[in-house]
Amino acid sequence: MDLTLTGAEEEFRRRLRAWLRDTLPGLPPEPPADDWPARRAYDCAWQRALHDAGYAGLHWPPEAGGQGATPTQHLIFIEEAERAGAPYVGANFVGLLHAGPTIAAEGTAAQRARWLPPILRGEEIWCQGFSEPDAGSDLASLRTRAVRDGDSYVVTGSKIWTSYAEIADWCELLVRTDPAAPRHRGISWLALPMNAPGVTVRPLRTLAGTAEFAEVFLDEVRVPATHRIGAENDGWRVSMVTLSYERGTAFAGEVVACRRTLARLARTARANGRWDDAVLRRRLGRLHAEFTALWRLVQWNVSEAAHAARTGGDGVPGAGGSVFKLRYSQARQELYDAAAEVLGPESLDARQEWTAQRLSSLSYTIAAGTSQIQRTIIAERILGLPKGR
Ligand SMILES: Cc1cc2nc3c(=O)[nH]c(=O)nc-3n(C[C@H](O)[C@H](O)[C@H](O)COP(=O)(O)OP(=O)(O)OC[C@H]3O[C@@H](n4cnc5c(N)ncnc54)[C@H](O)[C@@H]3O)c2cc1C
Repeated sequence: MDLTLTGAEEEFRRRLRAWLRDTLPGLPPEPPADDWPARRAYDCAWQRALHDAGYAGLHWPPEAGGQGATPTQHLIFIEEAERAGAPYVGANFVGLLHAGPTIAAEGTAAQRARWLPPILRGEEIWCQGFSEPDAGSDLASLRTRAVRDGDSYVVTGSKIWTSYAEIADWCELLVRTDPAAPRHRGISWLALPMNAPGVTVRPLRTLAGTAEFAEVFLDEVRVPATHRIGAENDGWRVSMVTLSYERGTAFAGEVVACRRTLARLARTARANGRWDDAVLRRRLGRLHAEFTALWRLVQWNVSEAAHAARTGGDGVPGAGGSVFKLRYSQARQELYDAAAEVLGPESLDARQEWTAQRLSSLSYTIAAGTSQIQRTIIAERILGLPKGR
């Protein structure tokens, strides 16, 4: 891994920093966390601004509508955006970080042309319909059926924990197309229009008080066969491409955000007298080292995927993403536990941003594959231990 910046990369950083400095003061205030239509409008407007300035899909290949930037430029973008306090990817998370890269890697030219530009322009929002009430960690046991009828599939079943479903235009949907095949072989990956007749979305309210995900019920929903990404019954392999993006690079920006949060926490501790506690100082110092190491791991994962792409591989992040996801999700929880210690009783105030973040940090060791599942992946694919039954 070579982290030395070239002249072009230094210049990229200078231009980006200037653009952020000029653009951010003109943004409207962020909408409340539970006003989803307003959050959609805000996140889409930011994505549109990135697009118009040439920063959308920075590291996507040019044939997918991206800028073909180097992995280092991508990482510089993440660092600078966070440093300047730019908006987070928000409602565009699934489109930009899972569905888009999956369609770029696995879709036909016509599918790329249909779905990728609206994602990059912030015009269409995606959600992820993988989990079902009886299929979470054991995703291959999913039961939502898609029966071929002429040029369409007729889809019936239900999904759960579908983030952004309430405001999404499209859903990356895993369905069972061959119930007689072995579990992993009878699955397909479909792009489901969320406004199709037969789709019902029922929001679920979380511990943090917002309805960021939902149940999705599908009652004989017709989906054109041209909306299938990859071959029929090859959806398990396609979904592994999606999940490797989710675990490999999707959380990269958050690591930089955590480093900033930690610095803020240290300032708060100095101001409220908690800094005198040597045990707390050691705890914050260890977390600083953790997040620095995690950022290095992101750099290593991105650089490894880019190297694989240059040498004839597919450029899809590898199992290193599981190492990152496992440690990052735990470190994030430790960060917000430390915040509670610094803030004392104030940290119980549900209106505080710190409190909301602490509650939502609990979900990180579950979402995008639980810690137990990441350990199994690391054991089997990195350490080469025998597969469990
Ligand atoms: C904030 C959040 C957002 C989410 N967003 C989405 C989304 O947008 N789309 C979507 O499809 N899903 C989403 N999910 C769902 C998420 O992917 C699942 O919750 C996760 O895969 C776990 O599945 P489960 O909840 O069914 O738990 P289960 O699979 O039932 O697991 C229960 C417990 O058993 C353990 N366990 C299960 N199997 C094993 C095993 N083989 N070995 C060891 N331990 C095991 C698990 O680690 C866990 O501790 C989201 C979840 C959260 C928390």
